Amino acid sequence: KSLPYFCRGEVVQGFGRGSKELGIPTANFPDSVVDNLPADISTGIYYGWACIGNGDVHKMVMSIGWNPYYKNTKKSMETHIIHKFKEDFYGQTLSVVLSYSFSSLFLCYLSPDDLIAAINSDIEEAKVQLELPEHSKLKEDNFFTSTT
Ligand code: ADP
Ligand code: MG
Repeated sequence: KSLPYFCRGEVVQGFGRGSKELGIPTANFPDSVVDNLPADISTGIYYGWACIGNGDVHKMVMSIGWNPYYKNTKKSMETHIIHKFKEDFYGQTLSVVLSYSFSSLFLCYLSPDDLIAAINSDIEEAKVQLELPEHSKLKEDNFFTSTT
């Protein structure tokens, strides 16, 4: 298995699906980062750690899904960092480690309100799970201090 999986790249414009309006902004990686994903990292919800530039390391939840720009033939990676930022960080370097994967939801059956509730419950679950030593140790990984 490829977890934990470390990667970084520039934050690019996403699909403008209004995730920020829902209170759940998701920072998008460019194709170059998505194309490097190991084949065994499938679509789903991942939890781990993230930092912007050489800033603090925060908990994150990532959705790996199918990219509508490519008629759902390519993946997309969208990271929600569990932290209140003062401003957007398009163009900056996002470093992440995917620590584990968990999702039991069939999102297509949910109404918009249920979807938001489901995502928020995933976020709450991530906050708790990431405190476990096997996941929290990754926060201290040299990967996050070697950013330039
Ligand atoms: P887009 O469609 O461009 O991805 P979103 O509505 O998903 O737009 O908002 C994502 C952007 O919001 C990120 O690229 C980033 O600049 C900003 N942002 C602010 N706070 C966060 C956060 N906590 N997690 C992720 N992105 C954030
Ligand atoms: Mg987004």
